[in-house]
Amino acid sequence: MSFNPADKIQDLQYFGEFGGVNPSISDSSTYTFLSAKKMFDTFEGNAEGCYLYSRHSSPSNLYLGQALAAMENTEAANVTASGMGAITATLLQLCGAGDHIVSSRTIYGGTYAFMKNFLPKLNIHTTFVDSTKLDIVEKAITPQTKVLYCETVSNPLMEITDIAGMAALAKKHNLKLVVDNTFSPLAIAPVSLGADVVIHSLTKFINGSSDTVGGVVCGTQQFIDDLRNVNDGAAMLLGPTMDSYRSASILKNLRTLHIRIQQHSRNALFLAERFEQDGLKVVYNGLPSHSGHELYKKMYNAEYGFGGMMTIDVGSLDKANELMELMQHRNIGYLAVSLGFYKTLFSAPGSSTSSEIPAEEQAEMGLSDGLIRFSIGLDNDIERTYQMMKTCMQEVGVL
Ligand SMILES: *Cc1c(COP(=O)(O)O)cnc(C)c1O
Repeated sequence: MSFNPADKIQDLQYFGEFGGVNPSISDSSTYTFLSAKKMFDTFEGNAEGCYLYSRHSSPSNLYLGQALAAMENTEAANVTASGMGAITATLLQLCGAGDHIVSSRTIYGGTYAFMKNFLPKLNIHTTFVDSTKLDIVEKAITPQTKVLYCETVSNPLMEITDIAGMAALAKKHNLKLVVDNTFSPLAIAPVSLGADVVIHSLTKFINGSSDTVGGVVCGTQQFIDDLRNVNDGAAMLLGPTMDSYRSASILKNLRTLHIRIQQHSRNALFLAERFEQDGLKVVYNGLPSHSGHELYKKMYNAEYGFGGMMTIDVGSLDKANELMELMQHRNIGYLAVSLGFYKTLFSAPGSSTSSEIPAEEQAEMGLSDGLIRFSIGLDNDIERTYQMMKTCMQEVGVL
C-alpha cells in the first residue's frame, strides 16, 4: 500500500465552533438560508458548502465521511445509520429492475438475505459464487450484470478475495466492484487495488465500542453525490441517515483505530499460532496454513497485521455452545454477535449471524456446526488469556 491511512486521518484537522479541539456537533435537522435563491440552488445541488436538511447531509456527518474517505483513499464518503444502510443504498443505486449481481457466497448474513430474498422482489437477481476462484466469478457474469460484490476477508469463513483480480474482471466487463471491508480497516485499502466502492459497517472495528450501529459508503465524488441526490439518490430517499451525535462519537473513536487494530491483530495472531500448535482447527489469515495467507500479504499494510477475526472448529454445535458458555462464565469474553469490541466476542455463526444461509448451502461452503467465530479483544496479557482459554477447552474436552 503506497499510503498510510492512519496518517491521512491524522492530517485532517477540525475545530469546534469556539475553538474546541473536536468539531461542534450540528444539533439541527434543518438549516436557514440568507436568500431564497440560495435555497433553490442548494436543492439543485449547486451550492457548495450549504446545508439543506440533515437527511441529505450535516456538518457532523461530513466530518466523519471525510475522515473515512481519507482512510479508504477515495474522493468522498457518505455515512449511514448502519452497515446494512450502506449496502442496501449502494446496491439499489447501482442496480435497477432486470439487473444482475455476481456476489461472493461467503458474505455477511444480512447482505446475503438482502440479495437472496429482497432484491428479487425488484427483479434484481444475484448469482452467488466462490469469489476466491476468479474463473468461476467470470463465468457467472451475464449481459445483465452490473455489480461484482465481495468482502475483502469474508464473514465468517475468513476467505480472502483477490481484489485486484476482481477489479480487472470488473473493468473488462464494465461492472462496478463493491467491496465490504469491515473485517480489515486500515490493513487493506480496496480502492487502491482497483475497487470502485468500499463499504464498512462502522458498528465493528471502526467505532469499536459496541455502543452503536453505523455504516459508510466510500467512492468517487460523483457516486456519493448520486447517492445523496434529492431526486433519485438511494441514501437520500431511503433515509438511512446517521444522527449527528453518533457521527461525532464515531469520529472520536476513529482516532484510536490504528492502535486498536494493531493490538487486535497481535492478540489474534498469538492465539491462532498457539491453538494451531495445540492441534485445533484454527482458521486465521495470519497463519501460513491459511489458503489466502500469501494473497492477503500481497494486499495488506503490514503495520496493521492480519486483523482480529479467527475461527476454531470444535466439531459440534453442542461442544461449541458448552465452550462458549464456559468462556463467558470465566469472563474471557462474551457470547455475542458483532466484532471489534475491546472484549473478545464469540458466537457460532451457523446458528446465528449466518443462519439466513440455508443448511445445505452452509455445508457446501464449509460452514460447519462446530465453528466458533472469535473477535479477539484488546487483552493486555494475551498469554494469560491463552492459558484461561486452554483450560476451558480442556474442561469441555476439545483439547
Ligand atoms: C456487521 C456487518 C455488516 C452489517 O452492518 P450493520 O452495521 O450491522 O448493519 C455488513 N458486513 C459485515 C462484514 C459485517 O460484519
